[in-house]
Amino acid sequence: MIMTEIEVDLSTLEMLDFEHTPACEGQLHAVNLFGHQADEPAKWLMVTPCCGTKLLVCEPRRKFIIAGGAVYCGDHNRVVQADEIKFLPID
Ligand SMILES: [Zn+2]
Ligand SMILES: [Zn+2]
Repeated sequence: MIMTEIEVDLSTLEMLDFEHTPACEGQLHAVNLFGHQADEPAKWLMVTPCCGTKLLVCEPRRKFIIAGGAVYCGDHNRVVQADEIKFLPID
C-alpha cells in the first residue's frame, strides 16, 4: 500500500478561509500595470464571450478596461471589446 502525504501549506489554508479577501488574478496586478493596483483586492468577476468566466479583477483594472475600450485575450488570440465584457460584482 502506498501512503500519500497530503501537504497543506499556508496559502491553501488561506484559500479555504471564508473571510479571506479574494485576490485580483490579473497577471500584472502585483506590479501595477494595465490599471492594476497591487493593494486592491478583487472586486469583479470578468466574463468574456470567448472565455466565459475569465478571472477576478480589481476595481482599478475594470475602470482601465472600460476606459480603454477593449482587451486582448491571449487564450483566444482576439480582441474583446469592452462592451462585450460583463463584470459581475463579488462580495
Ligand atoms: Zn488587479
Ligand atoms: Zn478568450
